[in-house]
Amino acid sequence: MANREELRKLPSVDRLSGHPKVVELRDRWERDRLNLIIRRVLEDERKLIASGASCPSEEALAQKVVWGAAGWEEPSLKPVINATGVILHTNLGRAPLSPEAIRAMVGVGSGYSNLEFILEEGQRGSRYVHAEELLCRITGAEAALVVNNNASAVLLVLAGLAHGREALISRGHLVEIGGGFRLPDVMRQSGARLVEVGTTNRTYLRDYQEAMSEETAIILHVHHSNFQMAGFVHETPLPDLAALARRRDAKLVNDLGSGALLDTDPMGLAHEPTVQEGLADGSDLVCFSGDKLLGGPQAGIIVGDARLIGRLKAHPLTRAIRVDKLILAGLQATLIPYLNGRATERIPVWQMLASPIEELEARAERWRAELEGQGAQVEVVDSRSTVGGGSLPGQTLPTRALSISVPDPSGLAHRLRVGEVAVVARVEHDKLLLDPRTVLPHQEEDLLRAVSEALKG
Ligand SMILES: *Cc1c(COP(=O)(O)O)cnc(C)c1O
Repeated sequence: MANREELRKLPSVDRLSGHPKVVELRDRWERDRLNLIIRRVLEDERKLIASGASCPSEEALAQKVVWGAAGWEEPSLKPVINATGVILHTNLGRAPLSPEAIRAMVGVGSGYSNLEFILEEGQRGSRYVHAEELLCRITGAEAALVVNNNASAVLLVLAGLAHGREALISRGHLVEIGGGFRLPDVMRQSGARLVEVGTTNRTYLRDYQEAMSEETAIILHVHHSNFQMAGFVHETPLPDLAALARRRDAKLVNDLGSGALLDTDPMGLAHEPTVQEGLADGSDLVCFSGDKLLGGPQAGIIVGDARLIGRLKAHPLTRAIRVDKLILAGLQATLIPYLNGRATERIPVWQMLASPIEELEARAERWRAELEGQGAQVEVVDSRSTVGGGSLPGQTLPTRALSISVPDPSGLAHRLRVGEVAVVARVEHDKLLLDPRTVLPHQEEDLLRAVSEALKG
């Protein structure tokens, strides 16, 4: 039975809108919108009272209206400090952008640009020229095309080159990318007929040969970006597939996923096939993401044969998945350091991959000194950072993390996530871990303040 007595104490919308705290909101809010916020607060309150709570004071209700109004204005998408040590965390937005990329995006976004305009001629141009030259110079490809993301790049390539025809793919390459997104489903959407070849663990050149027909337009090779195959496995080498495709008038399309432009080996990681290698191995087209190991904004990049790229540029689907000016600006600025050999110094993802252990240790030690004596046991421990984002599965990098011991580490992790500055940390073996590798230097002060606050409970 609802508490009628308490319910009757609830003020009316009119009355609450006259409270001085609510009156102050009238500068920012139209009357109708403000009344709507007040009504929502009163509705919530009615439910609470119905389940046994007592009616709050008018002062408290007015405060709830103030918070409610602030909540309506607060963007749901906001910056987060990533202390997980997962460098390309898809749920946390993958690659953080370089200062140069941000500057370029601000520059192009805050006014007009020559996005589709040839300044020399005063004529209409194409947006697709902008990152193309850079991509060709870096990868050695003849031509390049940038679209919305890599999933749409793969869809475009299949729709553009294999619609109504066959695309061969090894059963070992029929992967789920993540977020429930499965390659066979993408392939079907393109109108290409999927022809599965070989077995999950072993696919030989002869399997492809036997499946080839007049109808075969494409051989699709997909990099195992987010899982490992070990044991009794066989992959058909790319150069063999390239030779077969060439002989049979089909095209070899190589979905590399992360699309590294630099070697990962010097970072102490396994070898991630690079875009340049994909082309050198004879792929007609190579597709990859802009926001994985490349370290730029979300984009799908297709490089390779100029005639094929030309066909894709003219395909109607290209218009539907076209890339925005901000992304092109950010992508260009991200690519330039690759030309100058300065990518590991300038691009956050590569800085993180290349962080020396001594530097990580020094940062963790600084954090320990700051946080000591704040009610928790803190120490610097050995841990592992991961690359993530569908790159280098199972590969980790040694790191030095700050370990915080509290009675309820999950509770602490929750308080950090919902604090004023959101921090995402890792809980391992009943300790809360903060990995300096993925915390950008300019975030350190905010991080330490957030942890201090969260430790207060
Ligand atoms: C990540 C990935 C994709 C999807 O790329 P998005 O840019 O996220 O659309 C496609 N294929 C492979 C092999 C991948 O690793």
